[in-house]
Formats: sequence, structure tokens, C-alpha cells
Amino acid sequence: MSIKENLEQVKQNIASAAMKTGERPEDITLVMATKTIAPERIREAILAGGHIIGENKVQEALKKYEVLQGENVEWHFIGHLQTNKVKDVLKFADMIHSVDRLHLAEKLDQRLQHEGRCLDILVQVNTSHEESKYGVAPEEAISLVKQISKYDTLKIHGLMTIGLFTKDDIKIRKCFKVLKEIHDTIIKEGIDRVQMKYLSMGMSGDYQIAIEEGANMVRIGTAIFGARPTPDAYYWPSEKTDADRTKPSNF
Ligand SMILES: *Cc1c(COP(=O)(O)O)cnc(C)c1O
Repeated sequence: MSIKENLEQVKQNIASAAMKTGERPEDITLVMATKTIAPERIREAILAGGHIIGENKVQEALKKYEVLQGENVEWHFIGHLQTNKVKDVLKFADMIHSVDRLHLAEKLDQRLQHEGRCLDILVQVNTSHEESKYGVAPEEAISLVKQISKYDTLKIHGLMTIGLFTKDDIKIRKCFKVLKEIHDTIIKEGIDRVQMKYLSMGMSGDYQIAIEEGANMVRIGTAIFGARPTPDAYYWPSEKTDADRTKPSNF
């Protein structure tokens, strides 16, 4: 199947999942997860109607940004972010999904102040409790949101999570329920300057479940572009050394 056909299929599936829960399909935002995908193929997806690109690695994203800069798309950063990459990520990112610690927020704020602007962010929560995944622990999420909300330059627009990597739907669903609950609690508490607009959860294997559990932003790669050369790529912490990157896959 072509990228265009895949994208249409994904959009149809999003629409059916949305309708199941009484959501409007157009209220679900699709982020195309484009790690390891070459710019020409990303351009194909943009032509087919994709509006948002989600990249995982800062240097890879910057290279693609140079090539695709003229395209009418939003750039989201969805991978683990190291503080020494803050300056570079701000060269292209319209939104960062993966703010998961105060120190990172502080560094982003410093740089944004220097540039005299604001940035939309999501706070990443580790709902699966897997050590291999980044994100703040669910128990600490609300406190972190409160602390980050003090930074004028950072506009918290929601939460992000990666579901447990398993075939067990019940366990996956539980991750999404945990995120939704934190989202609802934050809305109930009404934290100043925090807007819970987006719940970014769901990938190729689980986006329909995520939407049923309240996701309104899904990040989809494989179902649009086909299998990546390194299928476990998102398990890799961003910006590993090249030696690490050539290690055989565990999956
Ligand atoms: C790669 C990635 C996705 C998309 O994964 P697929 O299974 O290819 O759809 C979503 N979110 C994050 C954070 C990713 O790294």
C-alpha cells in the first residue's frame, strides 16, 4: 500500500474509533511519527494530507527541517530530550511532547526567555512504569505540572504517554486510563496557566484503544510509512552514541 492509502486507512480508523466514543473525528489530531523516514517520503505524506510531523532525535530532525522547511507543516518533538539539545530543538519545534523533569523545563525557559518567546509543551508521564521509558511517574505528574506552570515561557497544553509494549489490551488500556485520570484531576484542580487541551497517546498498535480512552492526539509511524529498519527505534533513548545505535535490537 502507498503512503497515501495508508494515511487514508489510518484516518478512517481514527474516525471510527472517535465515533465509538462520541468524539468528532476532526477533533483527533494526527501526528505522523517520522523517525528514520527520509524527507522525500515525509513529503509524500504531507502531499497526501498529513499536517504534523513528530520527530524523536534532534539532529535527525534538524537535517530534515533544512530540507522540508518550506512545507506547510507543524513540527513536534516527541522523543527524549537532553538539556544540551535545548537550543537546537528550539530551532524547529512548534511543540514538545516530552517534557518530563523540572531541570529540562528550567533550561527550556532560560533559552526561550533569551529568544523572547513562548512554547507549547506536553508533560510526558511514564504510565507503564517501564524503566526503559522516559516520563515522570504518575504519582509525581501533577506536582511537576504545577512546578512547570510557573515558567512564563512554557504553555502546558496537555499530557503525553507511551502505552505498555504488549499484546495485552487490558494492560495497554490501563496506561491510557492512568493518563486520562491525571488529565481530569488537573482540570478539576484548575492550575493557573495550564490548559489540558491535548492527551497525546496511541501509536500504530494501540491508537484505537487510546482514542476510546480519551486520546485526542495520536502519534503514528509504522501504520503510515511501513516498518522501520529499526522497529524498536522509539525504545532508544534519543541521541545515543553511534556505537550504541548499532547494537542488535532486542525485539
Ligand atoms: C515512534 C514513535 C511513535 C510511533 O510509533 P509507531 O508504532 O511506528 O506508530 C509514537 N510515539 C513516539 C514517542 C515514538 O517514538
